[in-house]
Amino acid sequence: MNIDVLIIGSGGAGLSAALSAKKNGAKVLVVGESYPTRSQTSMAQGGINAVLDNSKGDSVQKHMEDTIKASHNLADPKMVKMMCEDAPKVIEWLDSIGVPFSRTADGKIAQRRLGGTKYERACYSQDYTGLKIIQTLFDNCLKEQIEFLNRHLLLDLIVEDGVCKGALLFDIKNGEVKTLFSNTVILATGGYGGIFYGYTTNNHSQNGDSIAIAVKNGVEVSNLNFVQFHPTGLKSSSVLISESARGAGGKLLNSDGERFVDELLPRDKVSEAIAKEIKNGKDVFLDITHLGEDFIEENLPQERKLAIFYEGVDPVKSPLPIKPVAHYSMGGIKVDENLETSVKNLFAVGECSDSKVHGANRLGGNSLLEIVAFGLRAGENALKAEKFPEPQREYGFDLEEIFDKEPKINFYKEQKELGKKLYELGGVLKTKESLKELFEYILDLESKLDLMGIYDKGKTLNTNLVDFIKFKNSILVAKEYAKSSLEVIK
Ligand SMILES: Cc1cc2nc3c(=O)[nH]c(=O)nc-3n(C[C@H](O)[C@H](O)[C@H](O)COP(=O)(O)OP(=O)(O)OC[C@H]3O[C@@H](n4cnc5c(N)ncnc54)[C@H](O)[C@@H]3O)c2cc1C
Repeated sequence: MNIDVLIIGSGGAGLSAALSAKKNGAKVLVVGESYPTRSQTSMAQGGINAVLDNSKGDSVQKHMEDTIKASHNLADPKMVKMMCEDAPKVIEWLDSIGVPFSRTADGKIAQRRLGGTKYERACYSQDYTGLKIIQTLFDNCLKEQIEFLNRHLLLDLIVEDGVCKGALLFDIKNGEVKTLFSNTVILATGGYGGIFYGYTTNNHSQNGDSIAIAVKNGVEVSNLNFVQFHPTGLKSSSVLISESARGAGGKLLNSDGERFVDELLPRDKVSEAIAKEIKNGKDVFLDITHLGEDFIEENLPQERKLAIFYEGVDPVKSPLPIKPVAHYSMGGIKVDENLETSVKNLFAVGECSDSKVHGANRLGGNSLLEIVAFGLRAGENALKAEKFPEPQREYGFDLEEIFDKEPKINFYKEQKELGKKLYELGGVLKTKESLKELFEYILDLESKLDLMGIYDKGKTLNTNLVDFIKFKNSILVAKEYAKSSLEVIK
């Protein structure tokens, strides 16, 4: 077997794992449906949390307390401690490999306040933090000559006698199914917020493929009901306006011009307050006009561009219409403190995993931290895994069945409807009754899958086929989301 560590997903978690595995001498291969610079990590704006020497009044203990409080006391203190203690080293490492963090006048790494804390704890690069991190990680991967298979979609895992031995991939460019054997596999495919199609800050292709594949292979998943709704998605496009806008003093106003919530409470509380205003027939706005053009251009340049481009509103001049939208998946593939799943030699890291550091509600700035801190750990741990013999039989994945069918229902229409139903019935103000209705709707949708299929029967670059494979996974993830939400709601 000539691959030691096969990494599926080329976002921040995957690339951090790749760099640490490679540094420790592994033969590494990184697979991605798209390209590293298009991963969700590139969209992160607000910052990455860490307590540094110059953090005024803050401490690692306070970082841990804020994280656990925001999580509704559902985070695992041991995992939170590990992440928060790693944080200063993570920033030092990112700085050393070239991430251009914004600086204070005396040259120290600048930090700002996000929600759920009193402290300026988030390190940032203007509001391009994730983009700068992923570009730097990718540069370093290229420098280390780490191999990439871009435009390859994970189709299935190879699991024999409770041990993961590789993966089946679809080569999107050439239309071929490939089998890759590897001593270990790290899943780093990001979250499943994309299933809330049209009502999410996420890329729609972030639909939790690996979670669906894990469920099908009997790999344990946990807390799939824990989806975070971000308070400030733009009203018509759902594009995110970062929490750093509220951290800098942005106000939330209803259509009567009243403030109705403390803007810097944890996200779930702020989202709930906004959703209630909207349910009562009011519009809600994020007002940063008082911060002034110079401050906005210096600290929130991307937010201004996004607002003008997607909402047609310049935040320097007018308040922005907003609504809460699905943003982050706290639940995912269950992992232990080594980031290993319930299947041997299969690891999961980043937003696709449930490492129990966020509980029911993630603190802003803690995801970028988790993906790098635990990504580095996952790469190192994977290399220490026991070695097992390579599979002796051939593996394949039957796509003919999809090609042979003539579709009677347009699945793209169903995909949009699924997003709307998830948001309306399974969103911020979900109830037991609405969840039951959602679950029934998903079962009905699932029963119609046989009538859906692809229109493009071409072999190469068939994005219609990729979209359909992913839509089938989305239905499974949506069903698990509704099921686990129903299990816990009172
Ligand atoms: C708009 C926005 C702003 C954010 N701002 C912040 C912030 O300021 N601070 C913070 O801490 N967090 C922030 N977050 C959250 C954070 O960016 C993400 O949680 C984090 O980047 C996830 O990293 P990841 O490596 O786990 O996954 P991703 O970066 O999503 O990467 C997943 C990778 O897996 C690949 N993939 C997916 N499915 C498949 C498949 N089937 N086969 C092959 N490859 C696949 C994708 O192509 C991608 O390369 C933000 C999120 C968004 C959407």
